[in-house]
Amino acid sequence: MADRLRVCALYPELMSIYADRGNLLLLARRCAWRGIGFELTAVGHGDTLDPDAHDLFYMGGGQDRDQQLVAEDMAGHKREALHAAAARGAAILAVCGGYQLLGDHYELGAERVPGVGLVDLHTVRAAGGTGTRLVGNVAIEVELPGLDGPRVLAGFENHGGRTHLGPGAAPLGRVLRGHGNTGDSGWEGVLAGSTIGTYLHGPLLPKNAWFADWLVQTALRLDAPLPPLDDRLEDAAHASARRAAGLPV
Ligand code: GLN
Repeated sequence: MADRLRVCALYPELMSIYADRGNLLLLARRCAWRGIGFELTAVGHGDTLDPDAHDLFYMGGGQDRDQQLVAEDMAGHKREALHAAAARGAAILAVCGGYQLLGDHYELGAERVPGVGLVDLHTVRAAGGTGTRLVGNVAIEVELPGLDGPRVLAGFENHGGRTHLGPGAAPLGRVLRGHGNTGDSGWEGVLAGSTIGTYLHGPLLPKNAWFADWLVQTALRLDAPLPPLDDRLEDAAHASARRAAGLPV
């Protein structure tokens, strides 16, 4: 087995709401429990991004204002490195505001915030106030390479943006409960090779430890699944998130 997972947290100061940081903690713990080393590097505004130095790139959600700051730097200075990382098969997980910035652009009224164009999608913020946000517990059904059947991801969403997938993009999953990409498309997130975007906060990984393991396996390009752990608490967290979304457990 690989001896360490090298994780790059993109803009952790600006893009980390709804306990998104818990995703990194969970990855660190699950690696440690299996004797896999864990290296975390924060890369922020103005920093150089080395596409070859990390196995997994992670970005959380953010307020529109913070996203605008990030977008400028990311599209202007990190676009090529992110494309190079994706092309060599590194895993990329982007949540909510981070997910929106993976696409072509995020339209905020008259303003157009640039994305990095890693996946064929764009996002438009709904006109109107807070009432137009898509908020609540959410559950989606996903089919991921290497898994023997469909699985459920459960989490929490809160976004004003509606994300429209282009013809070149496949969704991460089918909405079982909640809103997903647009509130009416029936789809949630995006999956392109080992690049994943999703609206699921939660935090996502502690509520779906099986998905964290899949991510580690994918990032390290391991042929076999990781050895199992005692997941009684993690299974209870998953069941609770499913229940909150209104799914039978
Ligand atoms: N600011 C974005 C939106 O409202 C993303 C929000 C988030 O990351 N929760 O759509």
